[in-house]
Amino acid sequence: MAKPKQANQKMEDIISLCKRRGFVFQGSEIYGGLAGTWDYGPYGVALKNNIKNLWWKRFVDGREDMYGVDAAILMNKGVWEASGHVSGFSDPLVECSKCKRRFRVDQLDDPKVCPECEGRLGEARQFNMMFQTHIGAMQDESSISYLRPETAGGIFVNFKNIIDSFHPRLPFGIAQIGKAFRNEIAPRDFIFRVREMEQMEIEYFVKPAEWERFFQEFQKQIHEWTKEIGLEKSHVHELEIADGDRAHYSKRTIDFEFDFPFGRKELYGLAYRTDFDLKAHSESSKTDLSYYDEETKERFIPHVVEPSFGVERTFLAVLSDAYTEDELGGEKRVYLKLSPNVAPVKIAVFPLLKNKPELVAKAREVYAVLKKEFGAVEFDDNGNIGKRYRRQDEIGTPYCVTIDFDTIEKNAGVTVRNRDTGKQERVALEEISEKFKGIV
Ligand code: ATP
Repeated sequence: MAKPKQANQKMEDIISLCKRRGFVFQGSEIYGGLAGTWDYGPYGVALKNNIKNLWWKRFVDGREDMYGVDAAILMNKGVWEASGHVSGFSDPLVECSKCKRRFRVDQLDDPKVCPECEGRLGEARQFNMMFQTHIGAMQDESSISYLRPETAGGIFVNFKNIIDSFHPRLPFGIAQIGKAFRNEIAPRDFIFRVREMEQMEIEYFVKPAEWERFFQEFQKQIHEWTKEIGLEKSHVHELEIADGDRAHYSKRTIDFEFDFPFGRKELYGLAYRTDFDLKAHSESSKTDLSYYDEETKERFIPHVVEPSFGVERTFLAVLSDAYTEDELGGEKRVYLKLSPNVAPVKIAVFPLLKNKPELVAKAREVYAVLKKEFGAVEFDDNGNIGKRYRRQDEIGTPYCVTIDFDTIEKNAGVTVRNRDTGKQERVALEEISEKFKGIV
């Protein structure tokens, strides 16, 4: 079905802002690009890092029961054989007999007709989405390895290490943020479906009888997280995945969907994976991955609740909700209504005029103080003040501080402009740091 024009327009506007302002660029752009890959510029990295840091703070540092890991991306192929990825991590692929384009059957309205040229589509075949490579000099069966298709594998293989080094009691979780790779048949919708992505995942190990309680706890936590990063509550939806549609390892899955400009699509997943993974890795690696319960004197394989978050989809959801067009002072403007939590720049500092050394010197002083205190602070003296405001609005900077003649001649403090309302207030120089504490 064709997407409404308005939605396409909004995506185009977001993509063009991302390029214009240095958030996201097409991967390998000067060579004509590489489908499904994107490069992040300075503001994109900052926004991404803010998302990842907030996530880590909430789900790892903010709790007593979480252990962080950073496992290798290349893993022994046995990991992916045991997890079922080698045999089953595939999507149904069809090819158009006329234009030769390839599609994922489950994403088509009509599995027989090409959506691009209306040619006839061939029979569907399963296409494994893992990127295969070879380790070392020999290119044979024995040297095959894969770029990990999800970060979860690196967590399960470290379960025993965490138990042996930290002796945690159930329930506890292991968390990881890192790259994952999927050879998607049809990467699309900007950074929504990519071939190289980042995931933020937790495997939360529980006693078998307790999985429901912790599943519900993470369900709540996911909503709180979406609030923390500034997503509109009414844009986040839960979709209970029916029996038969779930992944082979899952007994319950909820997809958290988001109203992206191109439609309601999966943002995150929450799955009850039973003891499938630890059992499979135990058997396949011939390593005991059971847990001994000191209280009940029982030995068993823990069950797992897995909340799984995509960094790129979070990034895009944040941008989709933040992208705003309005009129300010009779002029049209575009701005990102980002929560200060995630904004790449928290405060921008300007001298009113660039060619007045006394203004520039004072502005540099204020900038140094704020930079030391808040880190993500930018100094800007390019173009006129109106242009600077527009540039900062477009990258979502919540506050702009301007040093003008009254600052130095009348000791009247600086002006602080609020991004969303455009309103300005004067703040005394000695109170400037205090003004932003706790709000950026
Ligand atoms: P989809 O059905 O959209 O392909 P999935 O159900 O295969 O996604 P999971 O395997 O549950 O996704 O991966 C967990 C999370 O990783 C997803 O909720 C999403 O946020 C992110 N993710 C998965 N595949 C991609 C991708 N190709 N590009 C960007 N993010 C992705």
